[in-house]
Formats: sequence, C-alpha cells, structure tokens
Amino acid sequence: MKEFGKTTQLVHADKSLNPQIDGAVHSPANQSVLFEFQDAQDIVDAFQGKIAAHVYSRSSSSTNTSLQNVMNHLEQGIGAVTFATGMAAISTVMLSLLKYGDHIIVSDFLFGNTRSFFKHLQKLGIEVSFVDVTDVQHVVNAKQPNTVLVFCESLSNPMTHIADLSAIGKYCQGQQLLYIVDNTMSPSVIFSAKDAGASLVISSLTKYVSGHGQVLGGSVVDTGLFDWRHYANVEPMYQVGDSAQWGLTQIRKKGLRDMGATLPAPSASTILVGLETLDLRYQKACENARKLAQHFMNHPKIKQVFYPGLASHPQHFLARDHFSSYGALMSIELPEGEDIIQFINRLNLVICSTHLGDTRTLAIPVAQTIFFEATQVERDRTGITDQIVRLSIGIEDVDDLIADFEQALNA
Ligand SMILES: *Cc1c(COP(=O)(O)O)cnc(C)c1O
Repeated sequence: MKEFGKTTQLVHADKSLNPQIDGAVHSPANQSVLFEFQDAQDIVDAFQGKIAAHVYSRSSSSTNTSLQNVMNHLEQGIGAVTFATGMAAISTVMLSLLKYGDHIIVSDFLFGNTRSFFKHLQKLGIEVSFVDVTDVQHVVNAKQPNTVLVFCESLSNPMTHIADLSAIGKYCQGQQLLYIVDNTMSPSVIFSAKDAGASLVISSLTKYVSGHGQVLGGSVVDTGLFDWRHYANVEPMYQVGDSAQWGLTQIRKKGLRDMGATLPAPSASTILVGLETLDLRYQKACENARKLAQHFMNHPKIKQVFYPGLASHPQHFLARDHFSSYGALMSIELPEGEDIIQFINRLNLVICSTHLGDTRTLAIPVAQTIFFEATQVERDRTGITDQIVRLSIGIEDVDDLIADFEQALNA
C-alpha cells in the first residue's frame, strides 16, 4: 500500500490490512468478551505468550487489532495499542513505563488535561521538568542522570507552539532517551513523527482521526527507532523474544490489561470509518484555516493571530520544515475592552464548544475555561491572556466562515 497516495491508502487500509473471510470491506465490531479454545493447551500457550491469540477483550480483540493495524501503517511503526481515550493512552503509557524516582522532561505547552496528569505524576514520586520545547537547548539543559524520557506535542493547543521536533529526536537518540510525541494536532497525513525520531507516537483518535465528534479513542504506535534494551524499567518477564516489542508488551500488560482503559469495539469500528476521510477532511480544514488566518492577520478588530502558517509566527520555520500543511487550529486575541463572550455569542455558524478536530468550526474562550485550573504564572508563560479565543477550523465552505466571523467582529 505504501506506493499509493494518502487518501487511497486511507480508503483501502481496513480492507487491505484486515481481510475478512466473507469479503466484508469493513472490520466488523466484534463485541465478544470471551474466546473459546478447542484445545486447553492453546489457552495455556496463549497465557504464556507462546502463541498469539485473543483471550479476553480487555486486553485484545479483533476490531481493536484492525484499528491498531491501520494506525501502525499510518505512523510506519512496528506495532500499536489502542485505548478508550487519548488521555487513557497518555496516562497508561506513562504509568506502564515509569517508576518512582525517574525524571522526565515534558513540554511546557501541553493540552491542559495532560499537564494536569503530569502534575499528578509528581505526587507519585516522579520528577517532572516542564520546559519550553520550541528549542532543543532547553531539553538539553533539563537533562539529569535519572532522566528516562522526553514528552512533547507536535503542535500545541491553544497557542500553536511547534516543538523543535527533529532536534529533540536527534538529542534523545544520542542520549538513549525515550522520545514520546503526542501527534494529535498534526496527524500523520501532514507530519511523520517517526521521521523526526519519535520512539512512541501517541494520538487522541477523538480529534481529527475520527473527525465527527461522536467517538472517543486513543492510540500509541512504536516506531521501532528506540532500543528497549537500554530502558531500565522493562520488567524481566517481558525481556523475552524480539527486543523491539518489549515496550509495547509492557504497555499492553501493565497498562491495558492491568489498568483496563480498553477501547470498545463499536468505537474502534467508528474510528476506522472516520479514518477513511482523514486526509480529505484535514487538508480541507488546513486550507480553510490558512485562508482565515490570512483574513484575520491585519484585521482592525483582531489584536493578534496565532497560526503557524503565518510568517510572523515564532516557529513558522519549524512548522514549514516539519509539516506539509500548517494545521487547522488557531487562536485569536481580541483587543482589550472587547467582550469575548459576546463575540462568541454573535457567531451563528461557528459552534461554541470545547472540542477540536471536528468537521465543524468551533470556538471557545481559553483562559476562562480550559485554562481555568492553570495558575496565572502558567498562563503568562504560555501566552494566554483573558482575550484569547481558540478556533478549531472545520471543513465548511470558507466564505461562509469568513462571513460569520465578519458579522460577529463588526457588530
Ligand atoms: C484532546 C487531546 C488529548 C486527549 O484526548 P481525549 O481523546 O479527549 O482523551 C490529548 N492530547 C491532545 C493534544 C489533545 O488535543
């Protein structure tokens, strides 16, 4: 399938990677929790890892395997695990791979709930340094003897910071540090986290991947670049067979099986359908976002636009070098004295909602909602003032979006 274009691959991926006995072109949503073994020796061998088989659907089932195969193909990996939500993927990977006393370096510009989770990890005895990942030097400076991994988002929400992705990848490779990239905001159709050196690629499937705001999901793909023989926290019982699979084995056993945030089969099936149009939807949303950002750029009613596609964006060149489009997320800052609540209320087509990565264009005030739990110092460091509105651009006809924003801005 690699020789085909992205949309062709996406449309045919489920059928090609997961052929069905009856010729069905979709993987069915298989809801069986239990699996029968005709020979009791087989269930023994399955439990002992000597044969691959589904034994209980908390750990694995065919519909999840189908989705894992497609995500793995898209991220050019050597294996994938799926989870109930993006947050489940992040928290499970961390809790499976870290131990008390480890140090990790994470981005200072994180999805709010991810930041909140890392602060919780600090209470469990894990040292966490939050650093400005737009320059690899900050990561280098934060490194300690007990550092085991670096975590960042490719394109941050809501202020669209771009991490120094390849430079951090190169540094981690040299230091034998695990490098985890949350690629939710720049899915594989515009950015290959593997090409930037990521060891593990995490995605919230809830956003662009499924795209229609009707299902939650998360995934982690192992790119095969990291040598797990250098990772001290792999349990001896998982240090068997191909060392490339040790990390995912521990994530499956300690994470998915023991912590239990399993993706339901109907959700996996819905996500697979969404994936078919990922490239079409995302390219259209990126194009709309680029046009809107240009429209907003010198707008008298807008103080600032944060969009990586603008030459004025501080990491414009990082974005240009890594991504084939500049994403579909932006934030705008309205001038002092403009009531952002009233501005959002005047929007007719654009929906006020906390979601993003949807087919529909969405708006939300930032400081007052998703950053409500953050301290003032954290908001200042991230550049979040009380006048910031986040926009997740959808696939509508762009002229309709421009007209809606114009009437709301000029009222
Ligand atoms: C939404 C999001 C998550 C969490 O995903 P859920 O599926 O909502 O749990 C994680 N990371 C980023 C960058 C996100 O945008």
